[in-house]
Amino acid sequence: MSFSKLVFAPLSYTGWGALEQLLPEVGKYTPKKILVVTDPMLAKIGLTNRVTEPLESEGYKTTIYTDVVPEPPLQTGENLVAFTRENGFDMVIGVGGGSALDLAKLAAVLATHEGPVADYLNLTGSRSVENKGLPLILIPTTSGTGSEVTNIAVLSLETTKDVVTHDFLLPSVAIVDPELTVSVPPKVTAATGIDALTHAVEAYISVNASPATDALALQAIRLIARSLRTAVQNGEDKRARTDMSHGSFLAGLSFFNAGVAGVHALAYPLGGQFHIAHGDSNAVLLPYVMSYIRKSCETRMADILDALGGNSSFMSDEEASYKCVDELKRIVQDVGIPSTLAGFNIPETALDSLTADGVKQKRILARSPLPLHEADIRKIYQSAFN
Ligand code: NAD
Repeated sequence: MSFSKLVFAPLSYTGWGALEQLLPEVGKYTPKKILVVTDPMLAKIGLTNRVTEPLESEGYKTTIYTDVVPEPPLQTGENLVAFTRENGFDMVIGVGGGSALDLAKLAAVLATHEGPVADYLNLTGSRSVENKGLPLILIPTTSGTGSEVTNIAVLSLETTKDVVTHDFLLPSVAIVDPELTVSVPPKVTAATGIDALTHAVEAYISVNASPATDALALQAIRLIARSLRTAVQNGEDKRARTDMSHGSFLAGLSFFNAGVAGVHALAYPLGGQFHIAHGDSNAVLLPYVMSYIRKSCETRMADILDALGGNSSFMSDEEASYKCVDELKRIVQDVGIPSTLAGFNIPETALDSLTADGVKQKRILARSPLPLHEADIRKIYQSAFN
């Protein structure tokens, strides 16, 4: 007997104009002191105000916290959690990309716990999350991480990344409004879009995939494949932004339930050691990992090829799986992301340290349909250098 645990989204509003639901949702909690976690860029371009102004005009007291950096290091999380505990907030709203949303999760949940954030890390921590913390509303402004519907918060450590994970990190409400993504610059649109695509692809080939996560993953791939290129070329395109927003949301739900695998495990050390944005690290590795594990999931890759807009009908699964790798390579190239590690100025001398950190991601590697051991990980990195 084998069965799946499925958690299908907190209360979510998705689609153009969904931000209108913020006030009624906040009203359900009657908060006295709201912490808004966002990043300095979003405050500067006025996106944060689109959240705080309606709240202030209804008499809610908000504090905007902007000490957020992309791929936040552990210390950024420690500072924010200390600030939250000291100031007696009773609601947290995260507005931003995955970096701001993940920090908002930590602020909300660890506000009602003791000890440093480090104690709650998955790889090295000693404590577990015990309660839900403060009410949390998450409002993504990128279409990529799916953080608004997942139970993890990612932090950068010295050479790799680690997560705090528990279902209590799921928000009370997610508001996914594509209008908030119109200002995302093309490079970030590309990287975050391929991040979402990678979530869906890895969820679909995960050993924990189920019919329910398959449905989510394949629809995410269809939406992203038809609209990512347009969203990169013309950020004002409403249909493309809407597809990407839904694609990222569905991909988030699929990987939260089925897990990600080899691409993410090998991408974390690139982020940790070379500070490459999460989406870029996934993008550069996606074709290489999929090519390496191809034989273990040919039929699934034929399905992915179809969802990407190809047609596997008259091909063998083997042939379709090769074509699937080609399609993935093409979409990464089309959105302007370098296709080798050398393209990110990573020296080949880093092979040992990347491999050593990649091997540590055992929880993630365990979902790969082809078991990936140290020698395999080294070979994949090696192939990505050339
Ligand atoms: P990000 O949050 O780091 O943002 C990237 C850049 O885009 C920032 O400079 C930001 O200011 C800018 N930006 C964001 N929204 C914008 C907008 N609307 N207009 C203009 N600029 C905008 O990037 P991200 O890729 O969304 O998040 C990456 C982080 O999320 C990493 O730390 C990664 O590890 C983590 N992550 C978390 C999960 C999860 O489930 N919790 C999943 C995948 C990745």
